Amino acid sequence: MKSHAKAVVIGGGVVGCSVLYHLAKAGWTDIMLIERSELTSGSSWHAAGGFHTLNGDPNVAKLQAYTVQLYREIEALSGQSCSLHLTGGVMMADTPERMDFLRLAHAKGRYLGMDTELITPSEAKAMFPLMDETNFVGAMWDPVEGHLDPSGTTHAYAKAARKLGAEIVLRNRVVELTQEVDGTWNVVTEQGTVKAEHVVNCGGLWAREIGRMVGVELPLLAMEHMYLLTEPMPEVEEFNKSTGREMIGVMDFKGEIYTRQERNGILLGTYEKACKPWSPVNTPWDFGHELLQPDIDRIAPSLEIGFKHFPGIEKAGIKQIINGPFTFALDGNPLVGPVQGLTNFWCACAVMAGFSQGGGVGLALSNWMVHGDPGFDVWGMDVARFGEWATLRYTNAKVRENYSRRFSIRFPNEELPAARPAQTTPLYDTMLANNAVMGDSWGLETPLWFAPKGTEPKDIVSFHRSNDFGPIGEEVRATREKVGVTEIANFAKYEVSGLGSEDFLNRLMTNRMPKTGRIVLTPMLNEFGRLIGDFTIAKAGEERFMIWSSSAAQKYHMRWFEKHLPKDGPGASQVRIHRFDQTLVGLSIAGPKSRDLLQKLVDVDVSTKAFRFMDFREMAVGGAPCMVNRITYTGDLGYEIWMAPAYQRLVYKAIKDAGEEFGLVDFGMRALLSMRLEKNFPTWFRELRPIYGPFEGAMDRFVKLEKNGFIGCEAAAREQAEGPKLRRVSFIVDAADADVMGDEPIWAKVGGKDYGTVEKPHGYGAPRFDADGKEVPGSRAAEGASAVRGIVDGDWRVVGWVTSGGYAHYIKKSMAQGYVPAALAADESAGLFEIEILGSRRRARINVEPPFDPSGEKMRT
Ligand SMILES: Cc1cc2nc3c(=O)[nH]c(=O)nc-3n(C[C@H](O)[C@H](O)[C@H](O)COP(=O)(O)OP(=O)(O)OC[C@H]3O[C@@H](n4cnc5c(N)ncnc54)[C@H](O)[C@@H]3O)c2cc1C
Repeated sequence: MKSHAKAVVIGGGVVGCSVLYHLAKAGWTDIMLIERSELTSGSSWHAAGGFHTLNGDPNVAKLQAYTVQLYREIEALSGQSCSLHLTGGVMMADTPERMDFLRLAHAKGRYLGMDTELITPSEAKAMFPLMDETNFVGAMWDPVEGHLDPSGTTHAYAKAARKLGAEIVLRNRVVELTQEVDGTWNVVTEQGTVKAEHVVNCGGLWAREIGRMVGVELPLLAMEHMYLLTEPMPEVEEFNKSTGREMIGVMDFKGEIYTRQERNGILLGTYEKACKPWSPVNTPWDFGHELLQPDIDRIAPSLEIGFKHFPGIEKAGIKQIINGPFTFALDGNPLVGPVQGLTNFWCACAVMAGFSQGGGVGLALSNWMVHGDPGFDVWGMDVARFGEWATLRYTNAKVRENYSRRFSIRFPNEELPAARPAQTTPLYDTMLANNAVMGDSWGLETPLWFAPKGTEPKDIVSFHRSNDFGPIGEEVRATREKVGVTEIANFAKYEVSGLGSEDFLNRLMTNRMPKTGRIVLTPMLNEFGRLIGDFTIAKAGEERFMIWSSSAAQKYHMRWFEKHLPKDGPGASQVRIHRFDQTLVGLSIAGPKSRDLLQKLVDVDVSTKAFRFMDFREMAVGGAPCMVNRITYTGDLGYEIWMAPAYQRLVYKAIKDAGEEFGLVDFGMRALLSMRLEKNFPTWFRELRPIYGPFEGAMDRFVKLEKNGFIGCEAAAREQAEGPKLRRVSFIVDAADADVMGDEPIWAKVGGKDYGTVEKPHGYGAPRFDADGKEVPGSRAAEGASAVRGIVDGDWRVVGWVTSGGYAHYIKKSMAQGYVPAALAADESAGLFEIEILGSRRRARINVEPPFDPSGEKMRT
């Protein structure tokens, strides 16, 4: 075993081997994989080997598609067969709601280049005759599904990596990880120590233990999972003989089962409600290739439905039941990327579908390690997406919830209950007493809307408008016409201070930093000129800045801030970043009477001239020391008031008491999001994401290209010079009783005209770099991306996708935001666009100017 390596990958399951292969392919050959036992000694060896492309997150779906297409490549390079069976598969819907869900998934697939098709139950039966089709109302066919040999596939990655120069060390456990002052990792193993620049945790079932070696508790948990194999079935053999084809894969939401052909019989797996974690606290190091004891009682309810839906299977004898553990993060997607707070410590774990996702995970991580950027939008699997609140017990509750709901529909207005309440503000009980329906905002209980007195504060979950529609409308109207108050503790808040702070922020942000007492809005870009943040920044004093942003991005942004802290020159080791999290909470008051209300609460002049739009002041509000921003996301006259949690009840009570004479109402997050729609305001992670440039995102006025040297400046200048290909726009949609939810296709009647690329720029093809290490423009989106197919309908074409939307209650219209080719972005003609909502195409019209207060007069007065 060598004593030095550029990178050490810990773990030889399918994920570790894929990471090793992709690193070697990207040109890092001084790398090694260290495996405790033999390859596939964790969950990989007993996997059912199924693969598919569909995922709730379209970006992850795209990566899954990449994984499937990769298998031919590694087979060719390694000479090792993966035993690929590309059978295709169907998802069966037994209710109209599940069919709505499939329609949504199918619609998303339109611009992702996926060839899914909605079919009838009889058509599904023709491909899988063991089913009783009368149990179903419809189905979706996905041709890119199948199964493979898990062990062969893992070895194919490993052999391909070895061929490219990587080393694999077996039967050698990593027992300790320490780091030198210069950042070098000491990877202490049973066979000696390896010094490495980078360490990758691909420990699968032991990923938590490896995390603990560096002081990190990774939010993942192993669950027991069972599938059964039947004896050979004559019906299967007969089908193979008569059609010359293998039977397809089937997913049955109701039964929570998946099934496919295995040799001459059937494999049937369950995601049962009565699920069971395995080794909830520590994974034993001596766990090897043994299987867990099957528990047929646990899966009996799923089997009962399964046998009713697939009577052909019931008759077959059960040959074997496999029960094995594999890991999940809270939302079922992987944990990938650099761990915030550490240097060069990377994760690729909690990969619950290693044979659908392993390739994409390997590609993303290797891009990130070698080129400093994953190369596409990986937020859905970024290890930074969970906060400190995701403790061992929290994770346990959430993973069990996720597992038991694996085949359940998640409605757009559905809040999941497990592990809640976790974090609460001092106003939590007050909000409950006010009949608030609470939601989970990055682990924090946040009021979503207020149910009328005497009614149960509860969402009726639906894809259509629901019981919150009326009350949210009331909250919006009262706020727009008088004044409303809402909690905004769920924003991210930071303070950057110390010598060099202004230079540091100027280098990170596209906008100029404000003068003392003033506020700016500013995007943040990566080196490739893509949007990685959107901030409100106030200059609170000399070299002291207050910053607000998206709550969910706190670790993501901290990771970036820490990476770019000045290493030398002015500010080196002096710039300090403090993340407040819930040690700073807030309330926002908005509406035409909000100034009168604020004036009653403070002893300073807050008139238009004394306290202007985009001013920042520290002042006592209702007797409590606060920071106040004259700005609001409602787009109206309004203020954000920030205070230590100990003062929040005092300030809220003062607002409520003083607000009575103005007709003050409480409003929730949903009303806030409704109001931002009619102002065409974007949201982070929806409209603004790392796949868009600032000009594509219509953030032009916040990008000061003439300001020297901010990160991404060159690329942004290129985007402006060449003109953005895409553009964010707002639509008014002629919707019926359902509004857009995000990711719906946008159709345009463009005849034969070509408006350039309409591919959503996930760019899962790795970016190419020139000899100077600069990204080759355009290489990211194009390479490896599949062409958009099946999206032309006469003169109509899919030209874009929705990012978010909903009902704009004040203007009483349904609205959507999304991206379309730039050449279409200013075309407000009626009849040009349609947006597909739940399978039905609704007329939509671009609204270049925001429908509420287009001149911004109200918020400036
Ligand atoms: C019953 C069952 C059915 C499944 N069906 C499917 C399916 O149909 N499709 C699908 O895509 N997925 C399926 N899976 C999930 C799939 O198995 C996992 O997604 C995949 O195995 C994860 O691979 P991994 O490399 O992350 O982890 P693992 O396979 O657990 O590999 C981790 C490796 O790291 C090594 N290691 C850990 N700690 C150390 C250390 N300190 N030093 C050195 N080495 C170390 C371990 O020995 C192990 O070999 C199934 C799983 C089970 C249990």
